[in-house]
Amino acid sequence: MEIDFSEINYLQDPSWQDLHADYVQFLLSMSGPTVIDITGKNTSKCRVINTLLQGNEPSGLIALHRWLTTRDEQKLPVTNLRFIICSVEAASKNPLFSRRFIENTRDLNRCFGKQAKANANEDEQQGSYERALLIEQVIREVKPEMVIDLHNASSPGPTFSVSSIITTETLSIASFFCQTLILSDLQIGALMEQNFACPFITIECGGNSDEQAHEVAFAGISHIAACKQIGYIHQEKNVEVIYRPLRLQTKSNIKLSFAEHDEGYRGVTLKNNIEYFNFGGAQQDEMIGWTDGDGIENLQLVDNKGNNVINEYFYTRENQLVCKQNLRLFKATNNKQAALNDCLFYVVKHSISEA
Ligand SMILES: [Zn+2]
Repeated sequence: MEIDFSEINYLQDPSWQDLHADYVQFLLSMSGPTVIDITGKNTSKCRVINTLLQGNEPSGLIALHRWLTTRDEQKLPVTNLRFIICSVEAASKNPLFSRRFIENTRDLNRCFGKQAKANANEDEQQGSYERALLIEQVIREVKPEMVIDLHNASSPGPTFSVSSIITTETLSIASFFCQTLILSDLQIGALMEQNFACPFITIECGGNSDEQAHEVAFAGISHIAACKQIGYIHQEKNVEVIYRPLRLQTKSNIKLSFAEHDEGYRGVTLKNNIEYFNFGGAQQDEMIGWTDGDGIENLQLVDNKGNNVINEYFYTRENQLVCKQNLRLFKATNNKQAALNDCLFYVVKHSISEA
C-alpha cells in the first residue's frame, strides 16, 4: 500500500455511524491521519488531544472512541476539542497495533522540528517529515490552550507525564492523569519539543496492552472535556516532579540480548524482567544485567551537554551490570525492537528526584 503523506481527513462532531461499533472497526474505517473536531460550549477556545503518533500505542485511540461513543451529547465539553489520530496505516497493519511505524518510514515522533528535518538525508523517509509538519499545522491552526499527547510504553509500568517546562498549568493537567511529571529537555525531534505557546504534556499511559492504561487515558480525556479552567487551584492530586532523565542506549552495532541468567552473550544483556524496575526503581549495587569484556563501554548515557556520563550511573562487577547509586527507571522494556529503536530505558538518580 502506497502511503499518501499529504493526506489528512476531518470529521466534525461525528455520528455513531462515523464512529462504528468499536475502536477496531473505527480504526479500519480510516484511510490515513484523521482529525475529529467536537464543538464545545465556548467555541473560541480549543484543547487538542493527540493520539497514535506511534502505531503500537493504542490507549489514546481506544479512550477517545470510548469517550465519543458514551458521552451525553446534550452536555457539551467546556471548550472545543480537537482529537488527532496520527499513524492509522501503521496501527492498521496486521497484527493490529503491533508496529510503531511502517517499514521504510521513520518513527513519526522523531521527525518534528527544523533540526530533525535537517538531519534527514534518506529520501524515502521524507514522507515522515512531511506528515510530522502536517500534524504540527493541524495543532497550530486551532491556537490551542493546551495540547495532550497520549502514548504507551512497550512493557508494563506506572503512568507518568512528561513536559519541557514545569508550570502550575502543566502540573494541573498532569494531575488529571497521574502523579508523576518528568521535566525533560531532551531534543530528539519529538512533538513535545515544539512550541505551541500553551501547556503541552505527553502522557505515558502505561503498557500498550494494559487495560488500566486505556482507563487512565479515558479518565483524563473526560476530565479535560469537563474542566472549566486549568491552573494550580485545580490540581487533582499531588504531583511529584522528576528532573531531566537521560536515555540509556547501546552504542552503535552493539548486540543487545535479554536473559534470565548470564549466558555469556556479546555486548549487553539485560535481565528478562527489566520492566520490574519501572515500578520500584533500582538500588545502589543492584545488578540489572551483564556485559561482555568491554563492560560499560558498550553503553552510552548522554547528558544535555553531550557528555557520556555512563560511569556516574553504572559500573561492572565482574561481568555484571550494576547500579552505582539509587536510580529510577522509566519505560524499561524487554521488547528488543523498542529498546534498540528508542532506548533501553530512561533513568534518573533517585537522590535528586525528591522534589
Ligand atoms: Zn510513544
